[in-house]
Amino acid sequence: MSLQTKLFINGKFIDSKEGSTIKVLNPHDDSQITEVSEAKAPDIDDAVAAAKKAFPAWRDTQAAERGRLLLKLADLIEEKADELAEIESLDTGHPIRDTTGLDVPRTAFTYRYFGGMADKLQGSVIPVEPGFLNYVTREPVGVVGQITPWNFPLMFTSWKMGPALAAGNTVVLKPAQVTPLTALKIAELMAEVGFPPGVVNIVPASGRTAGQHLAEHQDVQKIAFTGSTDVGRSIVQASSTNLKRVQLELGGKGANIVFDDAFLPAAINGSAFAIFHNQGQACIAGSRLLLHERIADEFLDGFLALAKSIKLGNPLDPETEMGPLTSAKQQKAVLTYCDIAQQEGGEILTGGEPPETPELSKGYYVKPTVAKAQPQDRVCQEEVFGPFVSVTTFSSEEEAIDLANSTEYGLGGGLWTRDLSRAHKVAGRMRSGMVWINCYKRVNPGSPFGGVGSSGYGREMGFEAMHEYTDAKSVWVNVDAKLPPFYKR
Ligand code: NAD
Repeated sequence: MSLQTKLFINGKFIDSKEGSTIKVLNPHDDSQITEVSEAKAPDIDDAVAAAKKAFPAWRDTQAAERGRLLLKLADLIEEKADELAEIESLDTGHPIRDTTGLDVPRTAFTYRYFGGMADKLQGSVIPVEPGFLNYVTREPVGVVGQITPWNFPLMFTSWKMGPALAAGNTVVLKPAQVTPLTALKIAELMAEVGFPPGVVNIVPASGRTAGQHLAEHQDVQKIAFTGSTDVGRSIVQASSTNLKRVQLELGGKGANIVFDDAFLPAAINGSAFAIFHNQGQACIAGSRLLLHERIADEFLDGFLALAKSIKLGNPLDPETEMGPLTSAKQQKAVLTYCDIAQQEGGEILTGGEPPETPELSKGYYVKPTVAKAQPQDRVCQEEVFGPFVSVTTFSSEEEAIDLANSTEYGLGGGLWTRDLSRAHKVAGRMRSGMVWINCYKRVNPGSPFGGVGSSGYGREMGFEAMHEYTDAKSVWVNVDAKLPPFYKR
């Protein structure tokens, strides 16, 4: 396993100007994996300048050629799959079976999708008055700043950079300082496949200082941000300096409704995946279980048994089903919510504490946690971002819909039923960017991803993403160049 630990600016790995570094910790045992250079404002300025310089040539590169580089990158990611999976597991705590089976293949899949998309984005011709031709082209916006969180650091490089680069933008990507390693590795692979210097710049840094500087930067035309709702708000304010475009993928509080006609074995299994995959650190996690009162006991019997059986352990062990949380801070935050749940009168049905296993005692582990709670409790309203699911019951379809829509968020939600008309009716009424019926957390590079309300705005994936990374340009042509278009003299 070889790591990249320096800033990637203008096609080179370099130290930060002030020589600052970030310690990267292993969430399994709190040991130090390595140190990486930490970008400060002057480094961000250099990265933006490199991206600005590279933009005209990249914009004018034939779209198919931009796509070819992304396709080569996807192939190289697959060649280096084992190494990337190992680095991601070490850095984030994701079980190796997930990084191998999901994170890495999905990353390659997404780069490949946008590689193929590069030359499929088309403009249009608008039917206007006779004698005139009006056509619309899609123009890249320019230098794009991208800020990503620590929960899926590898995959998010592809969600962010895939469409941005395919559309002809140049990029400065700031990964979360907690998990910078796979983004830097992707920079190495991008250099290897031949992305020109400056087209991609990767700058691990603190959010409050360097991230803010990127969001305020006058030479950045767009900020694409994935992270918490509070920071999303500050990004919007920072963007006002030059009125840059903003795309926000923020928090979530996914409602997962199980109706009394659901096929329970599938609902139990899918609901456990919805919350416990990636230790619950997913914006689209199904973190609020809404159970019809008639099946609540039967569902919980199976669900609690499954939750208790999930195998916690070293992320690098192929048998491990759940790893540690990604940071000590996040472990503390989740355990605090377990206390809050009880203070508010909720009942922890299982979990709510770190595992007793001595080998895991230094890591940031929390057992899969299920808590009964009331809809207005903080744990039903605020994003816990961990392996914590609240359970509430309902007695009618209307009540289920009201409960599902009772938070400020609207990112993803699910429902389990065998009644076809109910499925579509409830899906239509959920205030949510994505709804899963008899499944949960399905994601595909062709399908729009994003939220409403406090979950943000804008969409990743698919043609929608290509539109997010381009501006429409409307061109008018007077077809008879000799015909005066206005004053008839
Ligand atoms: P965070 O908001 O603390 O940090 C996200 C990124 O923003 C990091 O790179 C951080 O360094 C940077 N940042 C922090 N303060 C900043 C500032 N003032 N200016 C500019 N950048 C700043 O979030 P997090 O704790 O890393 O991630 C968890 C959050 O991300 C959760 O709320 C989760 O729901 C959300 N998330 C959303 C999606 C989605 O697609 N909607 C996906 C994953 C995670």
